[in-house]
Amino acid sequence: MSAPLDIERLLSKRVLEIENSGIRRAWDLAQACDDPINLSIGQPDFLVPDAIKQAAIDAILADKNGYTHTAGDADLLASIHARLHSQFNWEFDEGSHHSAMVTTGTAGALTLACLAILEQGDEIIVPDPYFVIYPTLARIADGKAVLCDTYPDFRMTAQRIAPCITERTKAVLLNSPANPTGVVLTAQEVADIAELCRDRGILLITDEIYDAFVFPPTQHASPASTSDDVLVIRGYGKTYGCTGWRMGYAAGPKPLIDSMLKLKQQTFVCAPSVLQYALVGAYDVDLAPLIAQFSARRDMVVSILSEVTELVIPEGAFYAFPKIPESLKVSGMEFVAKAIEQDVLVIQGDVFSKHDTHFRISFAVPEDKLEQGLLKLRSLLS
Ligand code: PMP
Repeated sequence: MSAPLDIERLLSKRVLEIENSGIRRAWDLAQACDDPINLSIGQPDFLVPDAIKQAAIDAILADKNGYTHTAGDADLLASIHARLHSQFNWEFDEGSHHSAMVTTGTAGALTLACLAILEQGDEIIVPDPYFVIYPTLARIADGKAVLCDTYPDFRMTAQRIAPCITERTKAVLLNSPANPTGVVLTAQEVADIAELCRDRGILLITDEIYDAFVFPPTQHASPASTSDDVLVIRGYGKTYGCTGWRMGYAAGPKPLIDSMLKLKQQTFVCAPSVLQYALVGAYDVDLAPLIAQFSARRDMVVSILSEVTELVIPEGAFYAFPKIPESLKVSGMEFVAKAIEQDVLVIQGDVFSKHDTHFRISFAVPEDKLEQGLLKLRSLLS
């Protein structure tokens, strides 16, 4: 037998430069716990509505298991068009400015967008703190993520973005409601960012995966309300409890969507067909009770933690990003290790940021567990 193939030598710099997610470091430590209170999961704890599950089963049994069009099933696309028409007055006819496509998760849409616009050395401005994959996606597309520091209030504003713009900037990536902070930008803030991007000839990409998770009286605001030249990216996974189905969509200027379609056609081909059919009726689901439940959980986080830590009150998503008091003199990872000793799993802030001063809590967990975990965190932070 000849020597084994030296795979390491063959791997691209692109993949070698990707670090294993720091979330893994925390999970590895948590292996020591029997039954940890897991406040680290970015996945909803509720079930997929029965009507949606049944529609998926029906589609399989009806043998609708083949490819769909790359852009997506016509009925699902029609529901997306209707939604965006009612929200932004966008049209999706043959000669219209806008187009939409179904994608393989929100991450699939973000990947296609980065590949469609970035080349060697191009820059995309992302918030810091950011959703973990943003810098990696830029790198995969040979570009570079430029971090827009939003500490201490985590608001990505036009004023903070402007100094990050260079002649290599191709896009700004916005995320409201935000992971990991729960911050929701106002209508004025997103309109200002849209105007800045338009003035500077830069694409604005808005990751709105948590658009349904906004706690009244706060309302979700999209830059697509005031600008036609925005790429809107949304998902179904978080809203309907089906993260593993990998379903999302992108909508924006037609030439951009057409370019993303070319890439999709020759890579992922189409989103899973039966799951597309299943989600045609998704917008009929009443989400109000769910949002009320998550809003109450948010209130619990704030009431238990705000006295012992600096906490920007989350107005959306299902995360909070409290500061580790300086008096404790511990790094993020040291704090996570202490929490794990108490059987509570949270994620250190440097997974999402160049700063190592905060930690992320997910409140997508049942109330009794959440309360137990928060009380333990409170005593660690006091
Ligand atoms: N964007 C943000 C801000 C997220 O938090 C996530 C998932 N945690 C994604 C995108 C990716 O979502 P999906 O599972 O739909 O690909």
